[in-house]
Amino acid sequence: MNLRLILGDQLNPAHPWFQSTHADVTYLLAEVRSETDYVSHHVQKVCAIFRSMERFADWLEGAGHRVRYLTLDDTAAHADFPSLIRHLLETDPFDSFDYQRPDEYRLLSQFRALEFPGVTVTEHDTHHFLVPFEELAKTFPVDRNLRMETFYRRMRKQHDILMDGNEPAGGQWNFDVANRSKLKAADLDQIPVPQAFSTDVADILQRLQRHDVRTIGSIGQALDWPTTPAEAREQLVHFCESALPAFGTFQDAMTDQHDQAWLLFHSRLSFAMNIKMLHPREVIDAAIHAYQSRPDISIEQVEGFVRQILGWREFIRGIYWTRMPDYQSLNALAADRPLPDFYWTGETRMNCMRQAISQSLERAYAHHIQRLMITGNFAMLAGLDPDAVDAWYLGIYADAFEWVELPNTRGMSQFADGGIVGSKAYAASANYINKQSDYCRSCDYMAAGKTGQDACPFNSLYWDFMIRHRESMERNPRIGMVYRNWDRQDAESRDLILQRAAWCLAHINEL
Ligand SMILES: Cc1cc2nc3c(=O)[nH]c(=O)nc-3n(C[C@H](O)[C@H](O)[C@H](O)COP(=O)(O)OP(=O)(O)OC[C@H]3O[C@@H](n4cnc5c(N)ncnc54)[C@H](O)[C@@H]3O)c2cc1C
Ligand code: SF4
Repeated sequence: MNLRLILGDQLNPAHPWFQSTHADVTYLLAEVRSETDYVSHHVQKVCAIFRSMERFADWLEGAGHRVRYLTLDDTAAHADFPSLIRHLLETDPFDSFDYQRPDEYRLLSQFRALEFPGVTVTEHDTHHFLVPFEELAKTFPVDRNLRMETFYRRMRKQHDILMDGNEPAGGQWNFDVANRSKLKAADLDQIPVPQAFSTDVADILQRLQRHDVRTIGSIGQALDWPTTPAEAREQLVHFCESALPAFGTFQDAMTDQHDQAWLLFHSRLSFAMNIKMLHPREVIDAAIHAYQSRPDISIEQVEGFVRQILGWREFIRGIYWTRMPDYQSLNALAADRPLPDFYWTGETRMNCMRQAISQSLERAYAHHIQRLMITGNFAMLAGLDPDAVDAWYLGIYADAFEWVELPNTRGMSQFADGGIVGSKAYAASANYINKQSDYCRSCDYMAAGKTGQDACPFNSLYWDFMIRHRESMERNPRIGMVYRNWDRQDAESRDLILQRAAWCLAHINEL
């Protein structure tokens, strides 16, 4: 008898395991406390994963497989997977235990240490990513920093994606410069209505309450996330039809002037992909098919989208697996300040931060530029402890799983890896935020101000950050210019800016 474990982020219906049925195989899906508790997760994230697991179990059963679904009620006596599995192997006549390789270092270490007398333990691939696990070490050598752009071009060629023979479609590898438009008033009418879901999760909420599971954020009347591959596919089709035509153009835009400002032209497909209900290749192919069949979708739009999945998503995973476990404790900028309270409440006078945090608490979602240039940028400028920043990002987003969250947070957004993910810190003042959004128009602070109580905190914190790290940052030729601007200012102005930054840091919870 064979016991096969399926984790909550391994709901891949196309996995070879499920292509035929076997009377001696039992599939196990289990809600376990170690997984609800390793950080405080958003309530929508827990509900979306549990409901997706249940529906996957139903699907498996319907397809003729033997399935055991254990809820928190059934697993209450077991703190983690090793304890639960040991118990099942002792009480039932299984002589082999199989698992799919977890996409998280913590769990992979746990599973590889499993030993049960008389039971064969076998690890299997998840058949989800485009770079095979065995090729990661060769593709992402630790002795040199591969840049995303180099990796991405290689992937385009290798998988023959958006290629005209040996040349990139449209004559360019990257249309990033066409991806930075601000939303003008006339553009707001183009923002599509997102695909909505309305899944009843009252029973899961009761279960979480019964077991005193600590969560963050809120949930409305029902769950607005896809919980089956069919729903995820609906979301993909809807995205290609309604948002892809302007995805690239407004990829970096932010606004607070629209009901759908929280999503804009983004796909919100990360959750479905990260729990493997959707294969990244299927998503890429759907976008390219839409581009090829619709004249209103330009190469700038589709390339911008493909780059995120074929490039960034696979690149980030490569960095994670080749740099763990050291990566999780890197702190190149020696940042150590606790997270201000407003990260948990959204209660701050900084409009950009209020918008990004409030929508994260309300929807378990923020789009990339909000994560990177608002909440992440503030955290880096203020020198917030990367462990605390990581825990926040890992908990609050429905799509947050460590392999993708950690290098994005600690690397791309906090520069705590000293330049492994990106070649320079994404540090920005109000100037950038004002250029990419309309947040500053309805903010209590003055975007142009650097000193005095009304001045935008991002401005003085930006300079304080640049001066604090002058020695290491100035060597980067892409940043040198910034210091020449600083040195040109008179001593008194520089002093006032640094005084304002010191005040902001000392009164961070009042900002
Ligand atoms: C600080 C920080 C933390 C992040 N944490 C996560 C996380 O926990 N989980 C997660 O999936 N993404 C994370 N990202 C990357 C990115 O922000 C999200 O993938 C994206 O916002 C998800 O929304 P979407 O599906 O609407 O994306 P879209 O804008 O529609 O992009 C399409 C897809 O591209 C992929 N993608 C885009 N950017 C990245 C990236 N940098 N890394 C990996 N994949 C990318 C995602 O699969 C996404 O679904 C993080 C980024 C930052 C800056
Ligand atoms: S003025 Fe500063 S704090 Fe206010 S929205 Fe603009 S960047 Fe954010």
